[in-house]
Amino acid sequence: TPVMAIESSCDDTACAIVTTGGQILAETTLSQSGHVPFGGVVPEIAARAHLGALPALVRDTLRAADMQPHELGAIAASCGPGLIGGLIVGADMGKGMAIALDRPFIAVNHIEAHALTARLPGVASNGAPFPYLLLLVSGGHCQCIAVEGIGHYRRLGGTIDDAAGEAFDKVAKMLGLGWPGGPAVEQLAREGDPHAVLLPRPLLGRAGCDFSFSGLKTAVAQKLPAEVRTALPRQQAADIAASFQQAVSDIVIDRLGHALDMMEQRPTTLVVAGGVAANGVLRARLQEFATAHDLPFAAPPLRLCTDNAVMVAWAAIETMRARTALGLPIPNDIAMRPRPRWPLSEMTQRMTVDAD
Ligand code: ATP
Ligand code: FE
Repeated sequence: TPVMAIESSCDDTACAIVTTGGQILAETTLSQSGHVPFGGVVPEIAARAHLGALPALVRDTLRAADMQPHELGAIAASCGPGLIGGLIVGADMGKGMAIALDRPFIAVNHIEAHALTARLPGVASNGAPFPYLLLLVSGGHCQCIAVEGIGHYRRLGGTIDDAAGEAFDKVAKMLGLGWPGGPAVEQLAREGDPHAVLLPRPLLGRAGCDFSFSGLKTAVAQKLPAEVRTALPRQQAADIAASFQQAVSDIVIDRLGHALDMMEQRPTTLVVAGGVAANGVLRARLQEFATAHDLPFAAPPLRLCTDNAVMVAWAAIETMRARTALGLPIPNDIAMRPRPRWPLSEMTQRMTVDAD
């Protein structure tokens, strides 16, 4: 029976219908453009845009799947972490449908959904059996996680200041590239020399696998005094972009080496998730790292790396399946309130008690 999922935790409004076997019957994503003039996501604008877009998106997704609402077996929605206004809009839409259709409503942790995307059939060549090592690099997160089972996530380390995507966005802004910055930095970097500009690699070689990007961002800012920024020759801007991207990749690879040592069991797979995983240079370095450590490498297709509803549906399906295997009922989270913060460590609970 197919599951419909809604994603509205940040600035993408998305809906998808996925079968319990992992077949995607329909998926729609709308990226909000209302934030561009502000150079970042404005929470209030995001919430209102979700509210405006979601009803038609849900209807279009059902149409694309050629399905009637009563054919859905369950409704899921991202309920955190994220921007509370958008989360409330998506969760209430999902709850309303679940009540009307008399189906269970499943609250999905957005980060867990990113973490489990690699297990969607067809994404990882080996299906990403547990345990695997996950690198989550997105606009709001930068973490290494040991994924040991459904509900069992051990955070090995994470950023102590900016997320990787945040650093890309800030550097893009300094280079006058607009928002969102990641893709623009990557494109400009193609014309640049990654060794042209000397930039620091914070925490490189340090114990553990925490990340830090704020020193790198400051170093880029120092190369770009305000009076220079508007009149920067293209080649120089490209060299900065390429050198920055190289520095980020060096940091990630170094931290990942430590994360690998911190796994209790050898991982079956190296998995990357989150919007920054769209970066071609980083992806190539990760592939190289995986090969050097004799690990299969799994990177979801780009549309499943950034925020999407397919991953939300899949996380709900995995949760239902895991709970059934433990003799627990399918959760019904109709009373759960969306949470701006929802640590992965709290997901273990879902596998031991009834969430009702
Ligand atoms: P989170 O999932 O942590 O709540 P988010 O939803 O904002 O955050 P994503 O949609 O997963 O994050 O990713 C968006 C981020 O990815 C942005 O910071 C963007 O700049 C970055 N990004 C996208 N494409 C690229 C790229 N090609 N290179 C580098 N960064 C990129
Ligand atoms: Fe996300």
